[in-house]
Amino acid sequence: MTELEQKELKENIEQVQFRIAQAAMRAGRKADDIRLVAATKMNDGERVQAAIQYGIQVAGENRVQELLEKYEQDAYVGADLHFIGTLQTNKVKYLMGKVSLIQSVGSEKLGRCIAKEAQKYGICQDILLEVNIGEESAKSGLPPENLEATIEQLCVLPGIHIRGLMAIPPIAHAHGENLRYFDRMRQLFIDISAKRYDNVSMDYLSMGMSGDFEDAITCGANMVRVGTAIFGLRPYMR
Ligand SMILES: *Cc1c(COP(=O)(O)O)cnc(C)c1O
Repeated sequence: MTELEQKELKENIEQVQFRIAQAAMRAGRKADDIRLVAATKMNDGERVQAAIQYGIQVAGENRVQELLEKYEQDAYVGADLHFIGTLQTNKVKYLMGKVSLIQSVGSEKLGRCIAKEAQKYGICQDILLEVNIGEESAKSGLPPENLEATIEQLCVLPGIHIRGLMAIPPIAHAHGENLRYFDRMRQLFIDISAKRYDNVSMDYLSMGMSGDFEDAITCGANMVRVGTAIFGLRPYMR
């Protein structure tokens, strides 16, 4: 990385942290209550490690192969690592012992697979259930109406611990367009918390990305996943 790139990265992180703190305060919450996950896809190990040096505490990776490559390079040392992308059941085993949270569990089948692999590995894996809040046919995630039935199936499995919900709303074309999806997520989060399922802790509501993390915080997100606002545009976006 050039010195200029390092300076930009550092400033971007400070800017995002500042905006998170402002949004939290406007919502009557503390900055510390919001977990910032840096979405690191397509950024190499050097950039990921630099981001951690500049204060990033959680890295979120999308692809298993990419994660394993950077893991080998010690890119994530000093931070927690989450998996946030589409996950095929045959790849689950590669994540065991490496990620503290799998955010993108969008089917009962995947949840069962993670439980099985985690038990083999001798751990209990924290997961979030991904909700297809926009009910888009092309998108993964549980339809909201299936959420409670899926929790009832998964919460009894040793090997996984449900820690909350995650959502990727439809692509917004105007500012504020996702507020209604974020609001629905907050309602689901509250409803499920109130049911007090065994072995389910509704600790995290993960929603909001570069374009809308402040709106997500307004609606109750306590975990935001931010990529481009930290690392700049990814190659295919330039
Ligand atoms: C890439 C990605 C993000 C971050 O998106 P940006 O718009 O770059 O902030 C968040 N969540 C997931 C699941 C992603 O794949």
